[in-house]
Amino acid sequence: MRKPLVIGNWKMNGSVAQNEALLASLIKEGSRLAGVDAVVCPPFVYIQQVAAALSSGAFAWGAQNCAAQSDGAYTGEVSAAMLSDMGCSYAIIGHSERRALFADDNGTVAQKFAQLAENGVRPVLCVGETLAQREAGQALSVIEDQLSVVLAANPVGQWQDAVLAYEPVWAIGTGKTATPEQAQEVHAFIRQQLVQHDAALAQKTRILYGGSVKAGNAAELFSQQDIDGGLIGGAALVAEDFLAICNAANE
Ligand code: PEP
Repeated sequence: MRKPLVIGNWKMNGSVAQNEALLASLIKEGSRLAGVDAVVCPPFVYIQQVAAALSSGAFAWGAQNCAAQSDGAYTGEVSAAMLSDMGCSYAIIGHSERRALFADDNGTVAQKFAQLAENGVRPVLCVGETLAQREAGQALSVIEDQLSVVLAANPVGQWQDAVLAYEPVWAIGTGKTATPEQAQEVHAFIRQQLVQHDAALAQKTRILYGGSVKAGNAAELFSQQDIDGGLIGGAALVAEDFLAICNAANE
């Protein structure tokens, strides 16, 4: 039985004052979320603020990225060890915005995965196809490629705490959600890829759906056999919406 997981990706949003208000609302309602792991991923600079606010509550926290290197002369980067030092339980890697805008290719994502696993931070590995790739019938092969590079570079031992997120690029921030059937098809395919690596790992790995998840569509998506929760962008910035999505996963 896989415990549902909902992760809020704040992206490059927030301020000390805005975060304070959002966190206060989350903390007030968070104690009811016993059956779901709920996580908040703010920008790096606010991790300390989030950690201080959430340290005694139901929410865990994480980051939206990490360096591919361990330490040293990498100006502007933040290492996996630093995330661990700040109590981060999770870090998102391979998000489509990073792949498209910051040249994170599969090899770089594989290095980031290794850094996180070695430092005890759960990698949240995002995969997903563009609209053009889906329309060309390439969705599954694109995902297979994204996954296979990271699988080949990281032995099974490194995957024990990993999380996968299927995020169709055409559904991110667009208001267009994959249908539950479309998402389930890809999730089942991803789990099948993991079976080829290690059957026990495939059964225990949580696979999240991300892409315009809202309070109104979360329950139906999460009811699919291979969808174990969500990676939430826009709706994670509104406490009421994020909590409603967490509750949908809790049921
Ligand atoms: C995301 O950025 O990971 C995401 C899923 O965004 P949204 O929920 O806004 O589509």
